[in-house]
Amino acid sequence: MKSGQYHISLNTTETLNFRQIPQWLTDCAHILLNHGYQAYLVGGAVRDLLLGISPHDWDLTTDALPDTVETLFPKTYPTGKQFGTITVCHQDHAVEITTMRQDMAYSDGRRPDHILFSRDILTDLSRRDFTINAMAYDFRSQRLVDPYNGRRDLYRRRLQTVGEPEKRFAEDGLRMFRFFRFLATMDLRPDAKTLRAVRPEWAQRLSAERIRDELSKLLVGPHVRSALDLLEKSGLLTQVIPELNVRQFRQSTLYPNLWHHLLETVAAIQPRLELRWAALLHDVAKPLVYQRNETGVHYYYHERLGAELSRKILSRLRYSKAFIHTVSHLIEWHMFQLPPHAGDAAVRRLIHNVGAETVPDLLELRRADIVGTGHITRQTWQAWNELYERIMLLRTEALSQGAKKLAIKGQDLIEAFQLAPGPLIGKILSYLTDIVLENPEYNEKNRLLHHARNYLEKTQNFNPPASHSPQDSAGTDRSD
Ligand code: ATP
Ligand code: MG
Repeated sequence: MKSGQYHISLNTTETLNFRQIPQWLTDCAHILLNHGYQAYLVGGAVRDLLLGISPHDWDLTTDALPDTVETLFPKTYPTGKQFGTITVCHQDHAVEITTMRQDMAYSDGRRPDHILFSRDILTDLSRRDFTINAMAYDFRSQRLVDPYNGRRDLYRRRLQTVGEPEKRFAEDGLRMFRFFRFLATMDLRPDAKTLRAVRPEWAQRLSAERIRDELSKLLVGPHVRSALDLLEKSGLLTQVIPELNVRQFRQSTLYPNLWHHLLETVAAIQPRLELRWAALLHDVAKPLVYQRNETGVHYYYHERLGAELSRKILSRLRYSKAFIHTVSHLIEWHMFQLPPHAGDAAVRRLIHNVGAETVPDLLELRRADIVGTGHITRQTWQAWNELYERIMLLRTEALSQGAKKLAIKGQDLIEAFQLAPGPLIGKILSYLTDIVLENPEYNEKNRLLHHARNYLEKTQNFNPPASHSPQDSAGTDRSD
């Protein structure tokens, strides 16, 4: 192939879009050009610029070898030097400059056995995954190199591989996940042949981290519903998360099956990753705890088991501990109940137990869960709105009063009543927390010591030393 025949001019709109390329990046490209090398913008940035979207990262490719790139720029990092990638810092910005290459045989289904550096942009573009990702912008001619009609596919919204999809997916199974990821993040239609080429077993040899990164992008994509549904239908999702094999599981008449409910809940919730995972996994344990008896159908403790399963699933995918905690905590609490006549103390207790910071996300999960049932009546919304207002109002109070922080610590109790450290201290603190939740104005050291003393007297048959007992000015006691 001669590259010249694939050089095409940008139209007026595209030319304007490509003016978004920042000056510092053009400067980098011109350093390469001025030394007699080629310089192209490649990957997602070209695709995004054609669509008029601002790219979030920039990739350049050149025929200069990595060692040469290191000599041409003063500040470089060999971030992926064995694959030809050098990160260059220029005027406080970073760009990855990768030497054009050809990927040689893939025998392990995830990475090339070795690579060959190349001087031909067409060779480099041929190793790329999808036609819409296999275009280059030539800084010298200011034209597009588009050997696979990526621009046409982009404009007609078609996602297909460069070359035979089966071969390309067999070479690197991650491309299958990337396929569904791009469907979720961009407004694209899947090419039927590419879709049929997906083989779930090709996911087996991929690292969990690579799969995680693609799933993370997919889940927050604006077209998540259709992409996730296709991912599940293809068998790829359940290959990685067998716990989500729930399409056959029907529950009452609310929705056709559990998968459908999870999907609708994901689509309804705000596009933040922890929320999307919580939505996807919140009912994952239902099939395991399903019970039918004379009182009806029950899913006792599915939230607790669901939290446990979500911890297993997300740690398999190597998410961080903090992230796993956030998601599983939401799932654990997603069944919270507050009867309409519940008093403020019950609401405060809920806020305290869930954590005031988590409350808005838990409410968001509840809202999406309701939407995901597909059956929303005016009464459902009214009840939801009342619940929302009530909880959020008391949450504001809890945050402003710092109700979570008791005005007393375990050490204060140990000193005041000459107690030994142990479980009793925890019990007293939890008793005092309950008091403060009911009466936030009691959160004051002397007053709490007074209540602690009463507690000890009543429950432990205990006579705390008089000299350490708090003053009587502590105020009114609770009548209990
Ligand atoms: P974005 O950065 O917006 O998520 P992107 O297309 O730039 O999307 P990257 O992961 O940054 O995705 O990859 C940059 C480019 O490298 C892609 O556009 C594609 O040309 C190529 N590429 C990335 N991963 C693969 C792969 N597994 N197989 C073939 N080519 C790939
Ligand atoms: Mg990119």
